[in-house]
Amino acid sequence: SISVFTPPRGTQFLRLNFRFRTMASHVVGYPRMGTKRELKFALESFWDGKSNSEDLEKVAADLRSSIWKQMADAGIKYIPSNTFSYYDQVLDTTAMLGAVPPRYGWNGGEIGFDVYFPMARGNASVPAMEMTKWFDTNYHYIVPELGPDVKFSYASHKAVSEYKEAKSLGIDTVPVLVGPVSFLLLSKAAKGVEKSFPLLSLIEKILPVYKEVIAELKAAGASWIQFDEPTLVKDLDSHQLQAFSHAYSELESSLSGLNVLIETYFADVPAEAFKTVTSLKCVTALGFDLVRGSKNLDLIKSGFPSEKYLFAGVVDGRNIWANDLASSCSTLQALENLVGKDKLVVSTSCSLLHTAVDLVNETKLDEEIKSWLAFAAQKLVEVNTLAKALAGQKDEAVFSANAAARTSRKSSPRVTNGAVQKAAAALKGSDHRRATTVSARLEAQQKKLSLPALPTTTIGSFPQTLELRKVRREYKANKISEEHYVKYITEEISKVVKLQEDLDIDVLVHGEPERNDMVEYFGEQLSGFAFTANGWVQSYGSRCVKPPIIYGDVSRPKPMTVFWSSRAQSMSKRPMKGMLTGPVTILNWSFVRDDQPRFETCYQIALAIKDEVEDLEKAGINVIQIDEAALREGLPLRKSEEAFYLNWAVHSFRITNCGVQDTTQIHTHMCYSNFNDIIHSIIDMDADVITIENSRSDEKLLSVFQEGVKYGAGIGPGVYDIHSPRIPSTEEIADRISKMLAVLDTNILWVNPDCGLKTRKYTEVKPALSNMVAAAKLLRDQL
Ligand code: GLN
Ligand code: ZN
Repeated sequence: SISVFTPPRGTQFLRLNFRFRTMASHVVGYPRMGTKRELKFALESFWDGKSNSEDLEKVAADLRSSIWKQMADAGIKYIPSNTFSYYDQVLDTTAMLGAVPPRYGWNGGEIGFDVYFPMARGNASVPAMEMTKWFDTNYHYIVPELGPDVKFSYASHKAVSEYKEAKSLGIDTVPVLVGPVSFLLLSKAAKGVEKSFPLLSLIEKILPVYKEVIAELKAAGASWIQFDEPTLVKDLDSHQLQAFSHAYSELESSLSGLNVLIETYFADVPAEAFKTVTSLKCVTALGFDLVRGSKNLDLIKSGFPSEKYLFAGVVDGRNIWANDLASSCSTLQALENLVGKDKLVVSTSCSLLHTAVDLVNETKLDEEIKSWLAFAAQKLVEVNTLAKALAGQKDEAVFSANAAARTSRKSSPRVTNGAVQKAAAALKGSDHRRATTVSARLEAQQKKLSLPALPTTTIGSFPQTLELRKVRREYKANKISEEHYVKYITEEISKVVKLQEDLDIDVLVHGEPERNDMVEYFGEQLSGFAFTANGWVQSYGSRCVKPPIIYGDVSRPKPMTVFWSSRAQSMSKRPMKGMLTGPVTILNWSFVRDDQPRFETCYQIALAIKDEVEDLEKAGINVIQIDEAALREGLPLRKSEEAFYLNWAVHSFRITNCGVQDTTQIHTHMCYSNFNDIIHSIIDMDADVITIENSRSDEKLLSVFQEGVKYGAGIGPGVYDIHSPRIPSTEEIADRISKMLAVLDTNILWVNPDCGLKTRKYTEVKPALSNMVAAAKLLRDQL
């Protein structure tokens, strides 16, 4: 049934739309969680059985409608719909296509929560589908599992119902779909399907479903449709590019009568891909990221099809900085001359999903710093301010306030620290390495530490009880005294030390009870960092992270961990690891300033951590672990840029510990096992020991060494998965260690869990570690 769209008379929406009708503004997508994480709490309460599906649907509908209204009020012309999701937009697409793996027992019909959430999270009887990082963001999507036997069918009408829902509120939206080619390129072969199965060959099977969706959207009155095809920014071969030409020409007749927007984001589009996408006949408009996509502007200048619209992504969706309105305006004016006034649409660089939601909730943030920021809600206004300016309605007051804030940011003494700038600049171009080889160092360290073969250790954190979290919170809120706090944490450390001695672990940790988060803890003690109260960004499902904001030159006013580490060391004769977060991880898990290159900020953090490393050494700490959990996450999307990143990232790590004595043992830890492709960079970090996640990946890590990569430093591939409450048996751990011994030298192998134990319970940790130590001893005896 076709309903004719008549906006309710007299609404603000109608008024704005009328007044600003010559302006063209668009938003690629918007955060779903709500300003106070309403969706998170609604989801978790539903999952816990504390509320029903109607309650959840009500929260979701309220969020959607308030977001649409907010965009309409801001004057956005092309407002997206179907960017909401109960979990993830790729999973929504899997549901739309009916590509449910058989283990979820779906019997056809419209896919409901009873099938959708088990796919996302698993349940008592089935594990979840795999989750992986969405490009180079900290968002994670659910990976479709496909093969030749999947029977696709139109099984979730979400896109159409959201379109209709917005329309019933008087808002005509642009429905957004994950494009068919990106969907396939982001999928993996299902279990039992050969890894070499050509996933792109499924295009013929999924297009009929896309056609049904398109037909329904048309019937509902849609005049635009947006396909997100971000894989276009990756290194694609000609066969993959061909799939785009093929898919969109197949869809051409269904799409006739609709304006079709293809969105690309997160990087520039390689020249070949640019050619492909600009020659798609059925496509009316193309969106490009003009923030991260540094070459996009030149590509557009080199030739943009005259009949198409350009959606220019000038407002950064990946960061929290206020836009430089004057500079964006001149970019847009240049583009307008190229593509024509009526063909230019002001947009965001990508979905605003990857930035924080609304600055108005930051009541405690310093006013000056606040004036430099824009979260999603403020970015909507920026998009529209720019569109208005282009349409000859420049809001001078807004532009001059923006310019004033930028000037204050540039000249603020809180941003610039001459000494730090100088020290960081001096690092560039030079190298920083420890003076001796790793084998010489290991020998010197062994003399000092006298560790047994297959030494045992843990990654750092021990379980954090509700009580511990409460004490930390109360201390922060000044509700308990420093004295009380220090006493409590000291007791906690001493319990952890005692436990490790009882378990007979060789290299101890203090357990990190004073830390809430491995980046926040350091950020709070370094200068140049600011923290928000509500700057949450979705990481996956209901999980959100609150990245610190690095706004200025980073320095370390005073030692950060020496107090607790030396206190812990004083409790035991065994070596106590000093525990630090590395510069690359601090960088990659923060919102980073955009007024200098990332590597410069990273070098500054490296210098601060270097001071800490040296202070720990002076305090008698002989083993220092510098976690680089997120090193791999920062890898650029394109192969051509990898070497540059890895070079400065690894250099930054080496800066932190190039000054220590041979006898000081430097550990690092990484949370992913998928490091085969960057193994040479990891070796180049030149740590004495690396502990690394391993147990969830079918010992994929070991294959690197089977292939004969020479590795001389200490290595501790995790022997059990800490993400699961399951307690591994001694036999099972011993079996893992034997497998490692088959490919690694006995004298470099360490025995440790996959990662920190923070999220586990003591009832799980004690038996698991006890079995781990038993397994190490068992194998020691056999050496
Ligand atoms: N040292 C940290 C911990 O044990 C490391 C956490 C991590 O790698 N994500 O919690
Ligand atoms: Zn880890």
